[in-house]
Amino acid sequence: MNTKDLLAVASEFGSPLYVYDAEKITSQYNRLTKAFKNVPQLRINYAVKALSNISILKLLNSLGSGLDTVSIQEVKLGLLAGCKPEDIIYTPNGVSLEEIEEVAALGAQINIDNLSILEQFGSKHPNIPVCIRINPHVMAGGNSNISVGHIDSKFGISIHQTPHILRIVENTGMRVNGIHMHTGSDILDIEVFLYAAEILFEAAKNFKDLDFLDFGSGFKVPYKSGDIETNVEELGEKLTKRFNEFCKSYGKELTLAFEPGKFLVSEAGYFLAKVNVVKQTTSTVFAGVDSGFNHLIRPMLYGASHQIENLSNPKGRERFYSVVGYICETDTFASNRRINEITEGDILCFKNAGAYCFTMASNYNSRFRPAEVLWYKGQAHLIRQRETLDDLVRNQIDVSIPLQQKEKVTAK
Ligand SMILES: *Cc1c(COP(=O)(O)O)cnc(C)c1O
Repeated sequence: MNTKDLLAVASEFGSPLYVYDAEKITSQYNRLTKAFKNVPQLRINYAVKALSNISILKLLNSLGSGLDTVSIQEVKLGLLAGCKPEDIIYTPNGVSLEEIEEVAALGAQINIDNLSILEQFGSKHPNIPVCIRINPHVMAGGNSNISVGHIDSKFGISIHQTPHILRIVENTGMRVNGIHMHTGSDILDIEVFLYAAEILFEAAKNFKDLDFLDFGSGFKVPYKSGDIETNVEELGEKLTKRFNEFCKSYGKELTLAFEPGKFLVSEAGYFLAKVNVVKQTTSTVFAGVDSGFNHLIRPMLYGASHQIENLSNPKGRERFYSVVGYICETDTFASNRRINEITEGDILCFKNAGAYCFTMASNYNSRFRPAEVLWYKGQAHLIRQRETLDDLVRNQIDVSIPLQQKEKVTAK
């Protein structure tokens, strides 16, 4: 999408607005499958939590992708989008046995990440095959909130507990059909990833009835030019070789699965916001937009740095700005950013707004969540309406009458 397209969409649907480019999602999907073209059975399960609009799920489904889900609600969204239950893997953390049983009844692939649930589930449902999430205790880089493979992590069953897993499997007679790992959200170093993969292969040898090995995700995408990104082509070449060797020694053609979220949708997303006020203070120039961390929380939550462009004045002189939101507490999108000169009313574009942006949006300050648009074959399709006051009060119950009566009684 170019500047002209984005401005046209903003003027048609208003701001703030999320826009997703279907072509970019498609090209990322194709890039990943191409990198692993020499794996006879490859499965990409898109991580729904990154961006869960049903139209996005349908688009990915049409490309051949399955879904990776972390809640029963995501499973149900996937089914609503027309995904087959067997193309959905469910990888929850810390959920109840009841929810896992409900998802199993829907027909999705269960992935279990703790021994307690494994034992209970296996005892009650020995005939439902499960995948096991291993924690290989390998640190993948990035923010500590999103790095999940380390020793203190709550995710997965420790690789050192493999004997206990085997004991449960044997005692319950359950079947383990997959082994999974997901080490975190930033693979910078392919060698580290391959090292973790070796640990997974070692673990997998213990299970005689596998159908797949799931290597999770953690593909890093660039946020600005010059950023390091995961070299999926190099990873594809190296991991394919090791995976195919493993299958040979295992004696069966297994499926290699991945579950990328960010890789597939991050760069496809644009967040558009309008500048309400340009405020010069003694120390900086603030550009205040008609949005805040209620709509895009990643800068405040993770210190994420989204590139910001002024679509309305792309050739203007560059100046330094602090771009801030309208939430009534510190709400900074970016500090000391060089941006083409901003005038009130200009439309700013936040890049990499496809993953973990809308799905983390809230109604804080009683603001409406933004609308979403899918840009498909040169046309804009509204895929979610902007909220209205009705949405804010929908589930509220007005008890004003009893409250007033109570006040009268105490006032006496
Ligand atoms: C969040 C998550 C993913 C997706 O991670 P990305 O960094 O967005 O690719 C994949 N698998 C599991 C289990 C997750 O929790």
